[in-house]
This record gives sequence, structure tokens and C-alpha cells, in this order.
Amino acid sequence: MTLSSSAPPADPGAHPRVLGRYDSGRPGPTVVCIGALHGNEPAGLSAISRVLARLRATDVPLRGQLLGVSGNRRALAQGRRFVDRDLNRQWTAENIARIAQGQLATAEDQETRELLGVFLPLLRRGPVSFIDLHSTSSLSPPFSCMADVLRNRPLALALPIPVVLGLDEVIEGSMLGYLCDLGHVGVAVEGGQHDDPRTIDFHESALLLMLVAAGSLEPRHVPDLAAHRARLGAASGGMPAVCEIRHRHVIQPEDEPFVMKPGFVNFQVVERGQVIADDRRGPLRVPETGLVMLPRYQGQGDDGFFIARPVTRNVLRLSAALRTLRLDVLVPYLPGVSRDPQRPDHYIADPAVARVAVKQVFHLFGYRQERAHAERLVFSRRRPVARPVLPAELAPLLREDEEG
Ligand SMILES: [Zn+2]
Repeated sequence: MTLSSSAPPADPGAHPRVLGRYDSGRPGPTVVCIGALHGNEPAGLSAISRVLARLRATDVPLRGQLLGVSGNRRALAQGRRFVDRDLNRQWTAENIARIAQGQLATAEDQETRELLGVFLPLLRRGPVSFIDLHSTSSLSPPFSCMADVLRNRPLALALPIPVVLGLDEVIEGSMLGYLCDLGHVGVAVEGGQHDDPRTIDFHESALLLMLVAAGSLEPRHVPDLAAHRARLGAASGGMPAVCEIRHRHVIQPEDEPFVMKPGFVNFQVVERGQVIADDRRGPLRVPETGLVMLPRYQGQGDDGFFIARPVTRNVLRLSAALRTLRLDVLVPYLPGVSRDPQRPDHYIADPAVARVAVKQVFHLFGYRQERAHAERLVFSRRRPVARPVLPAELAPLLREDEEG
């Protein structure tokens, strides 16, 4: 099967898949930076080009290599978030297996196949740090998102902007979620509003700071490092350092038209019961007090909005200590918690016994709640150490890579 016959194949456009590669021949980390995984978010690409040009202009002795990659080229050519399907929602083992076998039904299947072609030679060599640059439809200070595994923290916490945890639990099939589950590092940066020129500046500053945090660059290689840190810090002053997603509002097709009330911005405080949007059934109220994240002011996508809550630094320190000491051996002794008989590293919690705190406790130990389990709470452990694996579904592509 090739591209679907009903629609003409989308034009991949003029943007090269690999924007540029910088490698001064010194050993070190592999950093891959992706821009425009959503085609209407080109700011990341401009920032990557800027950083690559800067490294070349001053001939910086970067350790390892930096690869700049275009995300959804076909959607980029049309200035849309995606052509057929959201490219950042289809990285599940099932989809990847189908795509690796050459069954490409949508423009985004083709995009995924091409991205895997770029990533695979790197993935098989060792750990890779993926930095994924996004922008938002609403006005927003810059912030980062990551799955809360310890190896992601040095990059995300190097930025003086809020870190949002837990989007990987509520959004299935994100590219970074998939790559992080294989054992790699993955941090996404939301730089600001799509067409705000400052978004490119914030992405540039974030990328430079993360290259230093990753050990690719030394601080002396970025003489204006303090200015980049100050630029980001000033943009997100007064925001909590770390937040956790508590609620995702999913827009079902029958809910449309879904229309956010005007004026909501990321990290804005909302009260339980406050009307935040209208859909087909009428006014939509906030289910719990917290901070609004990613309100949908665009036509595409089924994420209406998210509600987050601040997490204290002490909770982060505690969770790092618990995981470093391997105290997660205590997890099966929690009240109301039992091992999943079928799957290793999976636990089932009885909501009647375990109550509210159980989710927080699992988060401390580096577990994520799995979606799509109605009455039971199922938690699985995120791959804790950076010892990447190549899963079975990639086998057909690995063979192609070896052959040619
Ligand atoms: Zn995006």
C-alpha cells in the first residue's frame, strides 16, 4: 500500500528534511533538534538555522553532533498543523510497526517513515537527546514539557522557564513519548505564540542553554550565555518552576463547534466551575482549580485545554532520591496496589482503597498512569535508565538501514 488513492499525495515542500548537521569530530553527545513537527509552527526551524549558522560562523569545537531536522514538511508547505493526522499523536508501537512495514496511508505516515529514516542510524548507536521545538496558538510565555524520568531533568531544568510534567500521560502517541520510552532523552519547548518573532529568540536561547547542559558546548563557547538565560527568565518571571498536568479536556467530534472563551493564556489561574469554553452542549466549566494550559484557539486537534498544578522543588528532590535509591521495590506494598500478573513493571491500583494520593505516589517513583482503563488505575514504569533499546516494530527499517 502506498499513499491513499482518494487524495493526491501532499507536496513535501521546499524545506529539507535535514536542516543541517554540525560535527567538529570530537566525541560527545548526539543532540537532535526538531522544528515544525506541527506544520504551522515554523519558528523552531528558524531558531535551529540560527544556532547552526552561529556554530559554523565561529567554528565552535562542539562535542558530539547537533542535527537539525524539519518535522511535518508536507503540512509546513501548506502552513497547516497537519495534512491528514497530527504527526505528534501517532507514535504508538502499533502505528510504527505498520509504517515500518511500508503501509503508508496518510501524509503523516510518510513523514513518520522519513523521520525514522533520519533517526534510526543514530538510535542504533547509543543514547540521543531529542529537543522538539513547538509554538502555541494562544499567547504564552515559553515553557518546556517532558516525561518525568531523571535523565530528562538536566536539560529541562537548565532552562529558567516552567517545566510541565505529565503531558505524556494524557497525550498518546507523541514523538518524544515514543523515543523517551526507548530510553532516549526527550524535552519539548513551547517557545510562545506561532507568529510572534520573540518565539524564535526564545527557541534559540533554549537550544543554546540545553546544548551547554547536554555537554555539547562549554559555557565559554557561548559568550552571551547569561543574556540568553536572562531573556528566557524575563519572559517567564513569576511562573511556577514545575507543574503537573491534572486534567485534559478532549473534544469529541460531536462536541464541535468547540470555542474557547477569548483571552485565556497559558498558566492563567482558573477556578473550579468557571466557564472556559462553549461547545455544542453549551457552556463548559473548569473541573478543578489550577492553571490553564494549551487552550485551543485553532481549528484542528482534539485537545481543548489542560489544567495543571504547581509541583514543588522538594517533591522533585524527593522523587530523585527515591528512584536513585531504588526504593520503588516498596511499590507493591502500597495499600490497594497489586502487580499486573501479565506485564512486568505494571501495577494495578484499586481506586476505592488507594484514593487520591496514589497517583502522586506513583509519580514520585517514576511511574505513569496509563489511559484507557476505565475502573482500574493502571501504572507502568517509564524506562528508568538511559540504556536505549530498539523495539521489534523497527526491525524492517533496521534491515533496510543495514542493506543500504
Ligand atoms: Zn506543536
